[in-house]
Amino acid sequence: MSAASKQLLCSLTADEVKTWVAAHGAPAFRASQILDWIYKKRIITPNLMSNLPPDLRLALSEDFICVSSVIESEVAAGDGTSKLLLRLRDGEAVEMVIIPAPDRMTFCLSTQVGCPVQCRFCASGADGLVRNLDAGEMVEQFFHGCAKIGGLPDNVVFMGIGEGLLNFGNLEKAIRLLCDSEYVGFGARRITVSTSGFVPGMRQLADLGRQVNLAVSLHAADDATRAALIPDKLRYPIREILDACEYYREKTGRMITFEYTLIDGINDKSGDAEKLAAIAKRMHAKVNLIPYNQTTADFHRPPDKVIRNFQAILERCDIQVTLRMEKGSKVSAACGQLRAKHASGEHSKQE
Ligand code: SF4
Repeated sequence: MSAASKQLLCSLTADEVKTWVAAHGAPAFRASQILDWIYKKRIITPNLMSNLPPDLRLALSEDFICVSSVIESEVAAGDGTSKLLLRLRDGEAVEMVIIPAPDRMTFCLSTQVGCPVQCRFCASGADGLVRNLDAGEMVEQFFHGCAKIGGLPDNVVFMGIGEGLLNFGNLEKAIRLLCDSEYVGFGARRITVSTSGFVPGMRQLADLGRQVNLAVSLHAADDATRAALIPDKLRYPIREILDACEYYREKTGRMITFEYTLIDGINDKSGDAEKLAAIAKRMHAKVNLIPYNQTTADFHRPPDKVIRNFQAILERCDIQVTLRMEKGSKVSAACGQLRAKHASGEHSKQE
């Protein structure tokens, strides 16, 4: 089997493992053992699968790509957030972020190398899409994080590099491998998928009927302002996005979150807050405000006073609003910054 056609070990389904075990003339119970190593123990190095016979371990390592990424660098902030730059088997790189809080641990995973949406304020989108990540590459990011913290996180957010809903098949499979009890068995309600408002994908995700949360990066409360931030090719009208949000809520019963990156002079006026409040109220949605974390683009973080005023307007309208703690801002937290730094040859420093 050529390397290109090999599947990642941590993307195997139960049926695929059973078929493989049978094809190797091994007893059926070996399939449960292999699945247990991969998804419950999170061991993807066949040599460490101690209850398997040596010939089966060897066959696994020959037939599948076992460990497909390495941690090339890790940048840690004083607040405990750490960002891992993962080098993939084809030389590309993605990031995953481990975000601790007093009451929970969150992993932020990437879904693509680069991003086709190319939001004007985002480092990840600067060079467009390089390629989609395989489901196993998403699961492996999760495993890297688990190895770092010595266990499972409380939450997983697909909010790293990429528009996951444009890589739907792989994202759906990664969610299945994380959630289903025969695999990792991680609660769907602890998973959040973020989207830039890719309407067909939002509806497709709703149709899965899974209890995953949906976070929609609205970033603007009217189409004209949104057009200044997100290029035309993958930007949908707010009306259509809201229809898809309603559909999502009906299908899953889950509350939507609107992500709103506050950018100085672009979308941070009182009028923007009032329009956003009206939308959030109508959609029964929460709002997560994210003060812009400057990258190389010509956008800036609003002054603290403006941020607080924006938040206060939403709160006065009884909107459930969080101001995202700027965890990781010292470690290039805006998505894609670490990868962009490496691509440009700039070395990240421990801060
Ligand atoms: S903000 Fe998200 S959707 Fe927009 S370019 Fe960056 S990664 Fe893609």
